[in-house]
Amino acid sequence: MSSHGTLFIISAPSGAGKSSLLSALLKDKPADMQVSVSHTTRAPRVGEKDAQHYHFVDRETFKQLIDQDNFVEWAEVFGNFYGTSKVVIEQTLAQGIDVFLDIDWQGAQQVKKLMPKAVGIFILPPSKDELERRLTGRGQDNTDVIKGRMAQAVSEISHYNEYEYVIVNDDFDLALADLTAIIRSQRLTLASQSHTHNGMIMDLLAE
Ligand code: GDP
Ligand code: ADP
Ligand code: 5GP
Repeated sequence: MSSHGTLFIISAPSGAGKSSLLSALLKDKPADMQVSVSHTTRAPRVGEKDAQHYHFVDRETFKQLIDQDNFVEWAEVFGNFYGTSKVVIEQTLAQGIDVFLDIDWQGAQQVKKLMPKAVGIFILPPSKDELERRLTGRGQDNTDVIKGRMAQAVSEISHYNEYEYVIVNDDFDLALADLTAIIRSQRLTLASQSHTHNGMIMDLLAE
């Protein structure tokens, strides 16, 4: 019997604050949580580091990785390919580490099919205007890209009801506290606690 981490799937329209929430959550590098680093064909943004934010690859390499069955899921988002490595998440979960996937709804559906115990969390922005302000304020994408992401936002949001939890990222600290509470409650379920405290529970039950 080995401890087993929980797979969390985080989705949201671009700009809702997924990356900010995940980086705040993992700021102190907790040993029991890890974000999965996706492969993407998108160009790195200023400040993005290969193997840290994404594994940046060309289309040819990405197609080879698909053919080699490397991905638990992959999808085309905003004209680029994104995919999650299967082996890495399986190995990490097997070490008892919770894994966070920052993926779109198409990827989330694929993962849920393969790993039904995965816990989905959808992040909503408080309004469309605020979403646009954040995308603009981030200063990473040009006007056309922002227009495209705003146009996609409604279709991403329309999938919010396929997730177990919903967080509204209005006040950032509150949203982070909500995210932390979800993770904590997941570790307190009967299944999880039976696993973690197996020895202790055996002792308590011994006549
Ligand atoms: P963001 O919207 O600022 O987070 O922009 P990104 O370029 O980081 O992500 C683009 C889209 O691809 C988002 O919808 C992500 O959720 C999605 N995405 C990122 N990584 C993966 C992945 O490994 N698999 C899938 N299916 N989607 C991903
Ligand atoms: P995503 O990863 O979902 O695309 P980001 O985490 O990059 O979104 O957030 C988009 C922008 O919005 C960033 O500039 C971030 O600093 C800002 N932001 C995130 N959450 C909040 C919040 N609660 N209030 C105001 N700004 C926020
Ligand atoms: P960005 O280009 O802004 O980094 O990401 C845009 C969108 O792609 C985000 O909504 C993000 O969640 C999604 N995304 C990032 N990596 C993956 C991935 O590996 N798989 C899928 N399906 N979506 C991803």
